[in-house]
Amino acid sequence: MSERKTIAETLHNGVSIVFDVDDVLYQDGTGHHQLALIRNGIFGKVLMLDGAVQVTSRDEFMYHEMLAHVPIAAHDNPADVLIIGGGDCGLAEEVLKHKRVGALTQVEIDASVLEFSKEHFADFNASVFDDPRFRVEIADGAAFAAETDQRFDVILVDSTDPSGPGAVLFTTEFYRNLKRILRPGGIVVSQNGVPFLQPEEFQTAMRGLRSVFEIASCYLVAVPTYFGGHMTLGWSTDNAETLTVSEETLAQRMAGIDTRYYTPLHHRASFALPRFIETLLEEA
Ligand code: SAM
Repeated sequence: MSERKTIAETLHNGVSIVFDVDDVLYQDGTGHHQLALIRNGIFGKVLMLDGAVQVTSRDEFMYHEMLAHVPIAAHDNPADVLIIGGGDCGLAEEVLKHKRVGALTQVEIDASVLEFSKEHFADFNASVFDDPRFRVEIADGAAFAAETDQRFDVILVDSTDPSGPGAVLFTTEFYRNLKRILRPGGIVVSQNGVPFLQPEEFQTAMRGLRSVFEIASCYLVAVPTYFGGHMTLGWSTDNAETLTVSEETLAQRMAGIDTRYYTPLHHRASFALPRFIETLLEEA
């Protein structure tokens, strides 16, 4: 009988998800992160950075569709979009499905994650690299937000969790700089973790966002590999109308884009929070 090989996520104290490893495709340091790429029978290819799952080939569509389509469909004119992080380029793929997006800038700190993902996740990101609207900068997203003269209509923070290089992407100073580079009426969406397992991280992020933006709320997505229940995506804007776009308008803006998770009805519903998350938000 062959030996069962496994790898455990180490993101949370007290509980972890253990993957059976069919194959180790890579396991080493990149200079910024400890990167592991494994193959698993259920999730396909699984990319881990510093022991935390970032993306898998089977469930990436859930997270990437909700992170991209909700703000872009809610915006009147999402001409210039910025992604901070997002090295696997699954988010860029969803963003570029929108013809209303004229330019997409992605600022990723770790060139190795991009190179790996180009090689190993071509099934979902291949179209990105030939798209003339796509431009990548290898830099710290916080430094970019502090220094750039560019302005954006939609900013998507697809970060690692608040430790290591990702920690600066959860600071109030970073949120202030996002507001500086956001055009009036724009929307910032940020990966804010799983509040059942990370209530303090969730509250710290929401408190920081609320101190900078007139509206700082969140919506929900369920992603099997980000286990622990709902994941929250922060919604920060000074434009309340972005929260009340009709299903009909959303459907018009999504016309021609095939999705497996997003629907206009679910878009509206994803802002309805369970009581415990509403309470965490109120008490943040
Ligand atoms: N969806 C994932 C999640 O929730 O776990 C995030 C995926 S994406 C691979 C996260 C990316 O953020 C990584 O490629 C990492 O290199 C990048 N990143 C971390 N800190 C960063 C920083 N300060 N500036 C820019 N990119 C950063």
